[in-house]
Amino acid sequence: MPRPDIFHRDFTPTPYWWEAYKPAAGDLVEVPREVRVAIVGGGYAGLAAALEFSRHGIDAVVLERGALGVGASTRNGGSVSGGVNIGKSFSGRAAAVDGERTHRLLSDGADAFALIERLIADEAIECFWQKRGRFVGAWTPDHFAYQETRLRSLNDAAQSGASMVPRERQREEIASDYYYGGMVVERSASLHPALYYKGLLDACRRRGIAICADASVETIAADGSGWRVETSRGTVIAGDVVIATNGYTGAVTPALRRRIVPIASHIIATEKLPPDVANSLIPKRRSISDTKRVLCYYRMSPDGTRVVFGGRARFTPADPMLCARVLHGYMTARFPQLRGVKVTHSWTGNTAFTLDALPHMGEEGGLHYCLGCNGSGVAMMTYLGTQTARKIARVANAPCAFDGPEFPDHPLYTGNPWFLPLVGGYYRMRDRLDRLLA
Ligand SMILES: Cc1cc2nc3c(=O)[nH]c(=O)nc-3n(C[C@H](O)[C@H](O)[C@H](O)COP(=O)(O)OP(=O)(O)OC[C@H]3O[C@@H](n4cnc5c(N)ncnc54)[C@H](O)[C@@H]3O)c2cc1C
Repeated sequence: MPRPDIFHRDFTPTPYWWEAYKPAAGDLVEVPREVRVAIVGGGYAGLAAALEFSRHGIDAVVLERGALGVGASTRNGGSVSGGVNIGKSFSGRAAAVDGERTHRLLSDGADAFALIERLIADEAIECFWQKRGRFVGAWTPDHFAYQETRLRSLNDAAQSGASMVPRERQREEIASDYYYGGMVVERSASLHPALYYKGLLDACRRRGIAICADASVETIAADGSGWRVETSRGTVIAGDVVIATNGYTGAVTPALRRRIVPIASHIIATEKLPPDVANSLIPKRRSISDTKRVLCYYRMSPDGTRVVFGGRARFTPADPMLCARVLHGYMTARFPQLRGVKVTHSWTGNTAFTLDALPHMGEEGGLHYCLGCNGSGVAMMTYLGTQTARKIARVANAPCAFDGPEFPDHPLYTGNPWFLPLVGGYYRMRDRLDRLLA
């Protein structure tokens, strides 16, 4: 039973976003017998790829295992950045990236932001796109100093509009003293993730693209010059296959599964707050995140009435009520003024981390893939889906910076992330130590 202290009487363990669009199979579209390209996974990446194929007159089908939008694409926090985390790897094996490649990665990350902004405008997607910037709180003075060292490359390569906010001015950004100042990134936005998803889906449907829900891909085998893709609702012969399964990458593509560590992320939404409280918490209505290893990300709901607060309450899927208690604790550590506030929604979803912390697109055993959001994929996975389609359609002007053969694996990792609870515990301890020693 919910402990009455934090749970609202209307509490539901489902995403707040699903009040506006709830993943559904809809009228089932038959799996075609033959198609030029089969796309596995119907999230942002899969739909963006399908849209781009249709722009070039290429016949594609999206094969989605469950309801449309059941993956991370209707569950995320809705903060949109073109940022790329270079040199900070979950596995300790960050990519060795020289100055020129860093510039290309940051610049393509910036393109990802431009692409999503253009897509939303072109398709007239009503998803509360709000370009209000992001504040990244520094957990320690050292983190603040590290942020300062990144300013120049962020602004040069990605035109991020980044600037530092010292601790004494922090309350201009957030009604909290939790951080040692932080960095503002102006070129960053927020949206309603499920409405953005629905907008992509509508755009695909307007173009007559086949989007097949409840069509789980069971096997993919080479067949002449193409592929035989067996689904739970029939077989399709495809010239090319795109794997867009991100944090839900499974046994169908074992070589890719070994390169992806699925890490759960959890979010709560609060009840509606009194207007004076709601307006005071994040006065510029930016998205917030922080530099902790076990970071939290949060924002006001699009209508400005609730806090939507996410983080790694656990590193694996876990009971939404347990996660709600942990996240409520994290939230009130930052905003003690929210102590009596109740939680109405709590949910979870999978992100996909890679061993070098970079998103990747490319080819593995002849299959195309776009995978590895590393926790930040609203813009990036839309972009990589689009770029993969452009590559297959042979219309890309230049190779994407995230495209290439180097997608690292580890000899001891086969796709079962049994070690995540240990990593989570270790990271939490390091966060505590960093602050104690600050
Ligand atoms: C809780 C949470 C918070 C997040 N917050 C943010 C944020 O604030 N900002 C941000 O930029 N990013 C955020 N992200 C990340 C972002 O949501 C993802 O990067 C993005 O949605 C990934 O899109 P995708 O299309 O690659 O994958 P998904 O949307 O996960 O879609 C993959 C799909 O593949 C399907 N699939 C898997 N296997 C098969 C199969 N065999 N056959 C058919 N279909 C299959 C799955 O069912 C799933 O629907 C967050 C993620 C989570 C979980």
